[in-house]
Amino acid sequence: MKIQLVLADDWELRGDGSGDMRVIQFATIRRLCEVYEACGLRASFNVEVLQQLVHRRLSDENPELGRLAAEWEEVVHDVYQRGHDVQLHLHPQWTNARYEGGRWSLSGSWSILDYESDRVEDMILEGKEYLEELLRPLDPSYRCISFRSGSWCIAPNGHVLNALAKAGIVFDMSIAEGLHYDTEHVQLDYRVIDEPFLPYYPRMDDARRIAAEPQSIVCLPTHTFSSGKPLARGAARVLRKRTTLGSQLDRFVAPNDVVIPNRGYSTDYSRRNWDNRRGTATSRLRVSDLSALSFGQMRQMLTDIRRRARATGWAVVPVVLENHTKDIGNFVPLERLAKYISAAPDLEVLTLTDLAHNIEGGVYPIRWGKNR
Ligand SMILES: [Zn+2]
Repeated sequence: MKIQLVLADDWELRGDGSGDMRVIQFATIRRLCEVYEACGLRASFNVEVLQQLVHRRLSDENPELGRLAAEWEEVVHDVYQRGHDVQLHLHPQWTNARYEGGRWSLSGSWSILDYESDRVEDMILEGKEYLEELLRPLDPSYRCISFRSGSWCIAPNGHVLNALAKAGIVFDMSIAEGLHYDTEHVQLDYRVIDEPFLPYYPRMDDARRIAAEPQSIVCLPTHTFSSGKPLARGAARVLRKRTTLGSQLDRFVAPNDVVIPNRGYSTDYSRRNWDNRRGTATSRLRVSDLSALSFGQMRQMLTDIRRRARATGWAVVPVVLENHTKDIGNFVPLERLAKYISAAPDLEVLTLTDLAHNIEGGVYPIRWGKNR
């Protein structure tokens, strides 16, 4: 059995438009590529395109934005030429961006689910066409084939999946089991989903659900895993007596796992519901976001992936990981992970494009219908 990991990475400024692009995007992506290349691995960058389009649009009045946009393109060219993949990521708050006194003011909704279907279609098509125009001079076969939504917003919604399918996107990776946001900018709830691990055809109005029939787009959830030790049964029982909803227990178990409203775009911690039925606490799920994990947590992540992959009985199992270039403060865990992956006989690294080819080529069973 082979596990096919995708080292995906959302490449962008911060959700409110702040941050120095040269520092948290350009310098960091180069360093990350060096780390992966030293071990023969290829990353897949979900580049945030609406930010880039706004920089280009306002470059006549603000030459500094034009210079940044040109450097952005140079970096993306360079990364792609070095063998890494580049795919589509959209943060719709950039659609209403204003630039004043060297600062961005982004007043558009952060969630693509809040936009009318025409706007959504335009955003997706514009982003896809921009990337294809940018990269086809380097590689005529380049296609924009995958999507991760900004702030993970993909469901429920009646038109976003249709717009992606219409644009030729092969698969979406915006579902991540356990995510739950109720913040000023984003509301979503992926605590109860039909399939947390394997590819499936989604219901076109709710990507959290498996469809009754094959559809024109596939969902592959981004991996999440339970980290931290669950409380011992006895301790859980004692605490449960003192609380009605388990919320205090959650706080006790997971003091650091809170969604910070102002950083909701990249704060990927979440909690699994208290399981009353079994009466035990409590796993907590976190997105496999490499920028937020120690090497020990990365090993826990891989243990979880191996256990679930073995249970499938499949010859090859695809797994999408996450990263945020802008949040990598320390490259040492990533260096150790890259070495570990390159030496592990059961792990191989694919790009998002490789994964799309495998989906189109029928390499993996795609869940739908009665087996949902
Ligand atoms: Zn993002």
